[in-house]
Amino acid sequence: MLKRIQTLLKQKKVDTEMTVKGWIRTRRDTGAFSFLEVNDGSCLANLQIIADKQLTNYDTEIIKLSAGCSVVITGTLQESPAKGQDVELHAESLEVVGWADPESYPLQKKRHSLEFLRSISHLRPRTNALGAVTRVRSRLSFAVQRFFQERDFVQIHTPIITTSDCEGAGEMFQVRASGEKEDKPFFGLQAGLTVSGQLQAEVYAQALGQVYTFGPTFRAENSNTSRHLAEFWMIEPEMAFCDLDCNMELATDLLKFVLQDALDNCEEDLALFNKFIEKGLVSKLQDVVEKDFVHMTYTAAVNELSKVKEIFEYPVEWGIDLQSEHERYLTEKLYKCPVIVTDYPSSIKPFYMRLSDDGKTVAAMDILVPGIGEIVGGSQREERLDVLSRRMTDAGINLEEYDWYLDLRRYGTVPHAGFGLGFERLVQFATGMSNIREVIPFPRTPGFAPC
Ligand code: ATP
Ligand code: MN
Repeated sequence: MLKRIQTLLKQKKVDTEMTVKGWIRTRRDTGAFSFLEVNDGSCLANLQIIADKQLTNYDTEIIKLSAGCSVVITGTLQESPAKGQDVELHAESLEVVGWADPESYPLQKKRHSLEFLRSISHLRPRTNALGAVTRVRSRLSFAVQRFFQERDFVQIHTPIITTSDCEGAGEMFQVRASGEKEDKPFFGLQAGLTVSGQLQAEVYAQALGQVYTFGPTFRAENSNTSRHLAEFWMIEPEMAFCDLDCNMELATDLLKFVLQDALDNCEEDLALFNKFIEKGLVSKLQDVVEKDFVHMTYTAAVNELSKVKEIFEYPVEWGIDLQSEHERYLTEKLYKCPVIVTDYPSSIKPFYMRLSDDGKTVAAMDILVPGIGEIVGGSQREERLDVLSRRMTDAGINLEEYDWYLDLRRYGTVPHAGFGLGFERLVQFATGMSNIREVIPFPRTPGFAPC
C-alpha cells in the first residue's frame, strides 16, 4: 500500500481517498491532533497520518496508540507542508485492530543492535533494517529466477533428502525415521540432508542442456563464522557443452545481472544500508556491475600472497587451501574488486572436478568478493569415465553406489560445468551486512534455531 502511494506520488495523484493497513511506529501529539507514523512493510518509508481530535475514538484509543499497534485508517492523501515527506494522510476514521502493550513490547523507538534483534527473530522483521534486508532478499531471489528463465535454463527441484554423501560426509546431517533400525534404514541406504544439488543437476544437464537449482542446503559445519550457516540457500547452474571459460562467464553475468536488478529496484532500501550499514555500498555495487573482474590462476594467487606472507596467520605455499584471510587479501587489498581464481591443485578439490593436462590442477574456479571472500565455487566437471573412476577410487568412494553418476559418462558424455552461488553470501554482499545471520529470516547455526 505505501509502495503504491509512492507510485501515486510520481503521478501527482494527491487528494486521493484511501485505506492504509499497517503498524504504528511512533505517535506524537500536539494540541489539536496527533501525528502517527505508520508502516505496512511494502517499503521502507512510513506514512504520516494526521489524526484530528474530532475523530470519535481520539480520546479513548488514538491517544493510547504506541509502537507495534495494528491499525486500519481511511482518509485523504494530501501534500504535506512538512519537510522530509511529500504527503500525509488526513484520517477520517481509524480502527485499532490489535494493541501492543508499550510496557512489554521489545521494539522501542531507539535503535537496537543487530545482536539483540537476533534474540527476537520473530519480531525483528518489523525493524527498518531487517525489513529492508527481507525485501532485497526477495528481489534478488526473483532476479536470479529471471536471469535463468530469460536464458532458457530449466529449473530442477533436486532432493533435500539424499543418499549421496560423498561430497560432504563429514559435514552432513543424518536423516532417520523415528524407530528406524540401524540395519534397516528407511531409504534402504543411510540418508542425509543435501549438501549440494550438483550431482543431481548434472543428471538433468545431460538431458536438458542448461539447468539450475535454487534450494536449501545443509552443512553440519561446527564453525561459528560470519559467513557460514547450517542451513543456507544455494543456486547451482549446470551446463552441458560448457567449459571453464563459459562457466566463469555465466557466473560473472549472473552476479552483475542480479546486483543491477537490486540497484534498479531496491533503491530506497539500499540507501538505508549505504547510510547505516556499509558506507559506499551503492558505489561498490555499481563498480561490480560495470567493471571487469580480475582473473588469475591459483598459482599466480599463491605468488602474490607469498610476497606479503608475513601478514597471514596461515603460511602460504603451493598446495594449501586458501584461507579466508588469503581470499580477502586478494579481493579487498590487492585488487579491491571481485577476483576469479582458477586452476586449483587437484589434491584440495573434490573428485568431480576435471583434471587438467598438467596432472596437478583441476579446472576449478572460485569467485572472491570484498567483505566476504568466496561467494561462488565451481568447476568444469570430469567427463571422462576412466579418469573419473580413478579419481573416485583414489578418494575412497564406493563406485557401485555411484553407478548412476558413472552412467552419465558411459552414455553420451559431454564436457559440462557449473557452480554454486551461496544465496545468503550474495544478500550479504548486496546489503553490506557483515553477519550472515542477518540476511536469512530464521538463521540456523550451532546451538541456535529458536523459531
Ligand atoms: P567455504 O570455503 O566458504 O566454507 P565452500 O568451499 O565449503 O565454502 P562450496 O562447497 O564451494 O563452499 O559451496 C558453494 C557456495 O556456497 C560457496 O561459494 C558459498 O557461497 C556458499 N556456502 C558454502 N557453505 C556455506 C555455509 N555454511 N553457509 C552459507 N553459505 C555457504
Ligand atoms: Mn568452494
